[in-house]
Amino acid sequence: MNEYDSHLVESQLVSMGASIVDNMDAADFVLLNTCAVRGKPVEKVKSVLGQLRLEKKRRPLTVGMMGCLAQLEEGQQIARKFEVDILLGPGAILDLPAALESNERFWSLHFRDELHDFIPPPPQGKLQAHLTIMRGCDHRCTYCIVPTTRGPQVSRHPDHILKELDSLLGAGVQEVTLLGQNVNSYGIDQGQRIPGIPSFAELLRMVGSSGIKRIKFTTSHPMNFTEDVVQAMAETPAVCEFIHLPVQSGSSRVLKRMAREYNREKYLEHIACIKKWMPDAVLFTDIIVGFPGETEEDFQETLSLYDEVGYDSAYMFIYSARPGTPSYKHFEDLPREVKTERLMRLIERQKEWAMRRNSRFVGRDVEVLLRGDAFNPDFLEGHTRGQHATIVPKVPGMDKAGIYTVRVEQVTPHQFNAKFLDAQGHTLEPILAPTPEAALLSSPLPMA
Ligand code: SF4
Repeated sequence: MNEYDSHLVESQLVSMGASIVDNMDAADFVLLNTCAVRGKPVEKVKSVLGQLRLEKKRRPLTVGMMGCLAQLEEGQQIARKFEVDILLGPGAILDLPAALESNERFWSLHFRDELHDFIPPPPQGKLQAHLTIMRGCDHRCTYCIVPTTRGPQVSRHPDHILKELDSLLGAGVQEVTLLGQNVNSYGIDQGQRIPGIPSFAELLRMVGSSGIKRIKFTTSHPMNFTEDVVQAMAETPAVCEFIHLPVQSGSSRVLKRMAREYNREKYLEHIACIKKWMPDAVLFTDIIVGFPGETEEDFQETLSLYDEVGYDSAYMFIYSARPGTPSYKHFEDLPREVKTERLMRLIERQKEWAMRRNSRFVGRDVEVLLRGDAFNPDFLEGHTRGQHATIVPKVPGMDKAGIYTVRVEQVTPHQFNAKFLDAQGHTLEPILAPTPEAALLSSPLPMA
């Protein structure tokens, strides 16, 4: 969501005649897009703002802060302390031009409804893009600050979504990720079905018939998860066989304290439904380790759920107590070392499963979207329909970004190593620049 908002801001700046520079030292204006979900990013914002405050003493520089932290009293205190000139809440980013034209400190925290209709210019030269289909959240998970910072859920009208999609297609985008805090409740805002707005399953089918090659989406809430979405995924070729379904904990007791509105059994029913319609689907999840009151038995239930589902991968976090959330107010945090030790055990479990799940792809031909050069310019990097990071050695004539079919030769828990195929389906041998050692071995022996 923040990446999408950064793109909105970037497009506004470019249309005002600004150019984007890679380095803060070369900038006249620095705008930090912040996250408030966990404590660590907040510390990072403070550290960068500290550097910028010093820089402002040396030269003319405008400093801004946007995103979820800007919306909170905590963020506003930070902004005052570090002399931030422009402060924009997540719903106020269209105020940026007015903020830059103002000669005074400009803070805006109100939500502008035009944001839902605003269609930013498409990114240039990119094969992938994000596309927001809704903003805000109607849930109240006890650890989460997002409903406070981003407000209640508002679904975007499908006409605006499809218009933005058209513009992305026109710019050469081949993969789009539909974004929302809870995409499964698209079209049902504050418990009411909105007339004229389709269900998420219907929206997937509409987007799938647009000509876009690949569709992904994030994030689903298990509470609003329905079989018609999985059916739409299975029946719409452009929708990738990839589901990110955050569970957060395998213990029903902990899920209740988190106010997640489902229990372990209900979650496992959803997994069974996914496996019925898409037996080979790639499954990701989010897990919070060390939620207040989590016992060793609760944590064991998370590990056993991990084994029962057999996830392809997981985003794993230590619980971070955030001021303003119910869990911060009412529950006592666990000791740091208990949380860290549990996270380490979970990471081990995740790696074992990732290796086991990734191994099923060895020898298979998979579709990969290659973005461009990897860290080593002899290779291209990208990701599969199932979000596996993939690297492929370049071969002559196939060294450009795009969607290709490649054969997976080796896997690790984090990556696929693959090769290009020729028209007959044979793997193509790469022509890589020889390493200095190889060049030495192949050179003739010096004459005595
Ligand atoms: S569903 Fe829960 S975790 Fe997700 S944004 Fe809403 S309140 Fe936060």
